[in-house]
Amino acid sequence: MSIEKEGFFQSLVEAKIWAIFKLSTTLDIRKGSETMAKDFKKRACLEPIVPYVPGKPIEEVERELGVSNIIKMASNENPLGPSTKVMDAIKGYLQKLSLYPDGNAYYLKQALAEHLGVTDKNIICGNGADELITFSGMAYLNPGDEIIISHPTFSEYEFAARVMDATPVRVPSVDFCHDLPAMLAAITERTKIIYVCNPNNPTGAMLTHAELADFMKQVPPHILVVMDEAYYEYVTDLAYARSIEFLKEGYNVLIFRTFSKIYGLAGLRVGYGLASEEIIADINTVREPFNVNAVAQVAALAALKDQEHMKAVQAANTQGRDYLAKEFERMGLSYVPTQANFIFVEVGVDSKALFQKLLQQGVIVRTGDIFGYPQHIRVSFGTEEQNKRFISTLEETLKQWDS
Ligand SMILES: *Cc1c(COP(=O)(O)O)cnc(C)c1O
Repeated sequence: MSIEKEGFFQSLVEAKIWAIFKLSTTLDIRKGSETMAKDFKKRACLEPIVPYVPGKPIEEVERELGVSNIIKMASNENPLGPSTKVMDAIKGYLQKLSLYPDGNAYYLKQALAEHLGVTDKNIICGNGADELITFSGMAYLNPGDEIIISHPTFSEYEFAARVMDATPVRVPSVDFCHDLPAMLAAITERTKIIYVCNPNNPTGAMLTHAELADFMKQVPPHILVVMDEAYYEYVTDLAYARSIEFLKEGYNVLIFRTFSKIYGLAGLRVGYGLASEEIIADINTVREPFNVNAVAQVAALAALKDQEHMKAVQAANTQGRDYLAKEFERMGLSYVPTQANFIFVEVGVDSKALFQKLLQQGVIVRTGDIFGYPQHIRVSFGTEEQNKRFISTLEETLKQWDS
């Protein structure tokens, strides 16, 4: 062996010894910290919060079950994906990724303002509407304050309250719809925010303009009404609330919408809030400067400009909605009439057991037990092909249940 080579091996050995030594000292430090007492606790108000348990990636489930072609109809995602114009806009932006995003989302707000007939001062953008829901709590809730929500509804409102040590007050729904008179009756002097989810998740039920107009007249001025309209673009019922009118009439409303659903951008996280200048200014105080990433802003702007795609998604959704409703009727299953991109159906068997059986066959749905309805499932509409596969899989599985 040449001297040169020997020297190389020598230094390799040295490097190895050094690495082992380094590793062992690192491990020592870890060990030390494991045995050290943690003499602090998380805030007591966080105790009731159960962290969101995300499902496994589809690829992982396919590998574990040895199936392919899984269809996910569990998270109200857009089965057609985003517009190709959005994808082009994103590609065109990649060069600029080293720059911080526009903290004011200037172009997106301008476009939204024009699209909706409000001013940019009436708009706040968020890292998904979820972030804005949390912001509403951060801006207005003191410990001991109350929020009023319907039950069942979207879980993020309770989260926004709990994080701030405020108390969620649940009002049972009637016919799967918000019971607005009962929600009014639940108001106390501690009530700060009423969250109205319209159409409601997980039921898909809708409140009309007349119902909400009557409601708004009776809400006292110490209360903010949040109208979460994550699914508003899917609504085809003409009686649907024209919430921006409430804003223009001077009511204390905060409207949330999102690019996650009909625009197919759930993975990028961008939503927006609409309210009076004063309310938007309040909420802006809790916003981090760069909360909406640059790609999300570029994508949302391109998505908004492609209303053709939006309408195509809407039409496909309406078709899927009518198809599933008709099939459920044929199968004798009762469902909640829906205006969203999902449907809440009573399957007459334990939804968790059904979930497992459907999963084995590559169909993922949401069980109703987490919403307090153990015999219901929530199904997001897919493509025509996915909808058909869901129905045939469901029908076969339920048939085998009986025998
Ligand atoms: C999906 C959804 C949202 C928010 O979605 P983001 O992805 O955070 O924009 C808000 N409210 C309801 C009721 C939803 O279903």
